Amino acid sequence: MTIARITVYRQWQPFRDGTYRCSGGRSAEGFDSTVVKIEADDGAAGWGEMAPLGSFYDPAFAEGARAALRELAPQLIGADDMGIEALNRRMDLLLNGHPYAKAALDMALWDLAGRRSGLPLAALTGGADGTSVPLYRSLAQEAPDAMARRATKYLAEGYRRLQVKIGLDVDEDIARLEAVRGAVPSGTVLFCDANGSWGTAETRRFLMATRNLDYTLEQPCATYEENLAIRRACERPLVLDETIDGAGVLLRALADGLVDGITIKLARVGGITKAKLIRDIAIARNLKITIEDTGGAEIDTAAYSGLMLSTPETLRQHTVDFHNWVTVSNARANFRIADGRMTPPAGPGLGIEVDETALGEPVFVAGAGRVSRPSRRRARASAR
Ligand SMILES: [Mg+2]
Repeated sequence: MTIARITVYRQWQPFRDGTYRCSGGRSAEGFDSTVVKIEADDGAAGWGEMAPLGSFYDPAFAEGARAALRELAPQLIGADDMGIEALNRRMDLLLNGHPYAKAALDMALWDLAGRRSGLPLAALTGGADGTSVPLYRSLAQEAPDAMARRATKYLAEGYRRLQVKIGLDVDEDIARLEAVRGAVPSGTVLFCDANGSWGTAETRRFLMATRNLDYTLEQPCATYEENLAIRRACERPLVLDETIDGAGVLLRALADGLVDGITIKLARVGGITKAKLIRDIAIARNLKITIEDTGGAEIDTAAYSGLMLSTPETLRQHTVDFHNWVTVSNARANFRIADGRMTPPAGPGLGIEVDETALGEPVFVAGAGRVSRPSRRRARASAR
């Protein structure tokens, strides 16, 4: 079967809890999501989604994704949709870089394969281990007492794992962690995520001052070398997120003994196919694994939680329910959440029914049915 048409939509997804703040004064009001539908010549279809966190989080921005898709999607028309890894190699040949844009296409190919075969994503990617995955909730940066109150609120909503956003002034961050730790039961799992905002000096000060508190440290510094220096001085579990942008850096980190766990974000690495490769290397070395994304609603959440479900329970850290972060929806999906865990939809592919009316008019269509822009030849001819 071959790809007959690729339709690209945009959906603005405002945050339910208002402005989201992380280190360095960076903030976002919602996710600017790009949704992709791939239709094959046999009538089967699959859906994918990619939403960056603002333009500041990863080397990715929403209009960049759509511009890259305008470049890439027309060149995939007529390609065999069954060979997903081959199509990933082809996308990498046709467009150097821009993994975040390719992530939505790759996700749609997995959804298509699942719908055609009748198998859910978890079955396609190794087999479900159980029926649910642990969730975390992020505590955006606020005053320490406000973060403590929000932690209590999230625990009342059922979350059992919290990610404390740090990475500003070290003394204030120490107070943030102390306030949150003091407000939650001792069994509550805390991650402290600096999103790479600190140097080694700030990180060492934080580690010394919080020696007696129970938490996992996530991405204290931006560069590989700074985090490696911290690793040698840090006895507590260390997880890297922003650094993990492909299989190569994970192999290097394993050789250096740098990480106890990793966070894999589908958009950062280029989609489910490449996330699965990284995930499987991590499984081979017994690392703790988080699989999530940079944003999105039901389509995206179904994808990363499905891949998380086929990750061994003993190695799972947690994932996130991004569809509950936003005030809009893009699919009917039966996510069940209880006791801090989420059960992904069980149907074929992503297990969702996309609500096309929620997406509005397409940004563009490549392939049969509609032509959204002049062909390259016509564009070149008209430019002469
Ligand atoms: Mg993180």
